[in-house]
Amino acid sequence: MTAADDPALAATYLWFERHSGWAPPDEDTLADWVADGVCRCPDDCLVATDGTCAHGLATWWRVLVDLEDGGPGARRTPTARPKKT
Ligand SMILES: [Zn+2]
Repeated sequence: MTAADDPALAATYLWFERHSGWAPPDEDTLADWVADGVCRCPDDCLVATDGTCAHGLATWWRVLVDLEDGGPGARRTPTARPKKT
């Protein structure tokens, strides 16, 4: 899914523009969440790894997968954990 065809990702990028004080989780934190099948959203909601919170925001995992694949609008099937090497 992408920001172009995923309303949650689009809403999340909009949220980034309107809020300050947020920061992506570090790799270990993200790995812990994913291992538990959950992930935080930028507004701190805890939902399923590939989920959307009650406020319509995509999880950090979804955001980071999207960004790692070339930024907003890039396409990638969210099946693998984001991995920085
Ligand atoms: Zn939320």
